[in-house]
Amino acid sequence: MKEPDVLVIGGGVMGAATACFLARDHGAAVIVLERDPSYARASSALSASSIRQQFSTPLNIALSQWSLAFMKRVESELAVDGEAPTLGLVEPGYLYLAGPGGAAELRANQAVQQAAGAQVALLEPAALQTRFPWLQVDDLALGSLGLAGEGWFDGPALHTAFRRRAIAAGVRFVAAEATRIESRGDRVHALHATDGQRFAADIFVLAAGAWSSALAAHLGLALPVSPKKRDVFVLDSPAVLPGCPLVIDPSGVWFRPEGRGFLAGAPPRTLTDGGPGDPDEPPLEAVDHLLFEEHIWPLLAARVPAFEALRVRSAWAGYYEMNAFDHNGVAGAVPGWRNVHIACGFSGHGMQHAPAVGSALAAAIAGGHSDAPALDALSPRRLLEGRRLLESNVI
Ligand SMILES: Cc1cc2nc3c(=O)[nH]c(=O)nc-3n(C[C@H](O)[C@H](O)[C@H](O)COP(=O)(O)OP(=O)(O)OC[C@H]3O[C@@H](n4cnc5c(N)ncnc54)[C@H](O)[C@@H]3O)c2cc1C
Repeated sequence: MKEPDVLVIGGGVMGAATACFLARDHGAAVIVLERDPSYARASSALSASSIRQQFSTPLNIALSQWSLAFMKRVESELAVDGEAPTLGLVEPGYLYLAGPGGAAELRANQAVQQAAGAQVALLEPAALQTRFPWLQVDDLALGSLGLAGEGWFDGPALHTAFRRRAIAAGVRFVAAEATRIESRGDRVHALHATDGQRFAADIFVLAAGAWSSALAAHLGLALPVSPKKRDVFVLDSPAVLPGCPLVIDPSGVWFRPEGRGFLAGAPPRTLTDGGPGDPDEPPLEAVDHLLFEEHIWPLLAARVPAFEALRVRSAWAGYYEMNAFDHNGVAGAVPGWRNVHIACGFSGHGMQHAPAVGSALAAAIAGGHSDAPALDALSPRRLLEGRRLLESNVI
């Protein structure tokens, strides 16, 4: 087997997008190592796949804008043999709600978002009530509504489309679990897999999602990224909520339409609430149904009285690849190494940013061009220098 130019570890949406752009746009020979080709536990298969402009970090807004534009022309970008992917992208917006204590933060974030070209309107309770008559607004001070460029799409379809287009451009996906790094001086030479295979390459990209820290440790990089379980509940409800966006209650509970029903979720219950807290990598089967019964449902019914009658149809859990340092992705060249790059830790907003991150990272690796936003601010260097790029809008 000819040695590839680039070896990508992890075939989730980040690894697949990076591999796709490397091969399609820069002619690189790429192998992707993926330990589980069913992607059963990958974040990319378990995502709520929504996209927003309402971040507190300008770079995140720019990544959303570039990725959204890419998704709108996905038929031409990622078609294979005349077969075009369908993402089902819709743009009903995100609506962040705040009580008196949270209004100042919404105002500050909106200023950042407007400066970055996002169309975000601040609505007082009366305006909220007029626009969304089904919403209970008595305890609210302000709402922040995305007027364009926010909504949701079929994330697994985007992941599959990147994989298919990558394969069409010559990328090989190999089923193997990388376990050990072989290096000399400041260069990595090969990766060893649990089945004994050795994979040599010129350049390596670590895109192992929530599980990237173990391999990063071999590079001497203490990566503050770990798998944090997040539950998503699929609801049947007779409620009719015209124009319903993705709503984020001041409590952190969120909901949005999905098909004929709704999705809902919330941050995990903390230990002080008597809940399970937020441990690393609990079993995905252990959906916290009490979180829904005792916390989410009462808050949903208080915010939207029409939700009094609803039923949990099903539920699933996936891991956020949480970066505990500043809740932002870590992307770029790994300091101290001449031929290693990383893209992980997107803390629950990586699906929407994969197109832009993949394009920018591929160009940086290949020394080529991309008009996606430069990733300098996401460099792993900030971890070593203790410089946080704090994202305060984490759902
Ligand atoms: C419940 C939930 C809701 C979400 N909602 C949204 C949302 O609304 N919008 C949004 O943008 N994002 C959302 N996300 C986040 C988004 O899904 C992730 O940011 C994104 O999928 C991360 O992609 P990834 O490729 O980095 O990781 P993954 O998809 O996890 O891929 C990593 C891959 O690496 C493989 N791997 C790991 N270790 C090794 C190894 N040693 N060798 C070989 N392979 C390895 C794994 O098997 C896995 O397939 C959500 C996530 C969850 C769980």
